[in-house]
Amino acid sequence: MRLSVAIDGPAGAGKSTIAKLVAKEFDLMYINTGAMYRAVALKAEENNIGDKDIDALCSLISTFEMKFENDDLILNGENIQDRITMPEISKIVSKYASIKEVREILVKLQREMSNKFDVIMDGRDIGTVVLKDSKFKFFLTATPEARAERRYKELTNRGLDVDYSTILEDIIKRDYLDSNREVDPLKKADDAIEVDTTKLSINEVVKEISLSIKKNLSVL
Ligand code: C5P
Repeated sequence: MRLSVAIDGPAGAGKSTIAKLVAKEFDLMYINTGAMYRAVALKAEENNIGDKDIDALCSLISTFEMKFENDDLILNGENIQDRITMPEISKIVSKYASIKEVREILVKLQREMSNKFDVIMDGRDIGTVVLKDSKFKFFLTATPEARAERRYKELTNRGLDVDYSTILEDIIKRDYLDSNREVDPLKKADDAIEVDTTKLSINEVVKEISLSIKKNLSVL
């Protein structure tokens, strides 16, 4: 059986940073499912497709060929990682991610990836839906302020002119939309281990997750 690790949690909880490091340690493919929803938002905006035009959205996604290279999302041969992580996309992604038909297509693609490779996936519904049979589930949290601070640093390091309070406001809004949507909302799986990363260093979180994986691997 393939090894799969699920990491869920709200925006800025450290999921992707942690997942990339755990992936290296256990030789897993890192699948950033948020990037896949962001790709839908980016291309829908570029093609003027609103969130009510489900048919157009589905046919748009049917033209997508997505793969990850060095943890970056490559869409139809183009590296779109920088563009999908811009604040403008963070602001609109949740409305596209709340659409049932969009989720059905992306969840199917994500499951296909997990059937082909040993994976670590991060997102909102990985432990509850995509990899619900995984034996390794983690739910990362942190206060909204700590999460906004991390995003702020990440974006200013990239040279972007951003404002902390706007980021905080956007994160709180996105958490609300992601947690309260009808389809596959952000939720801790009953069997996920919760890690509050507010006061922990990256290394401490990686260590906690790695130890837990090793312990469970030895009893499987
Ligand atoms: O993880 P990231 O912040 O990049 O995710 C962007 C958005 O994509 C989330 O706010 C959420 O709306 C959506 N998403 C989702 N399900 C996932 C991953 C992301 O709905 N598995």
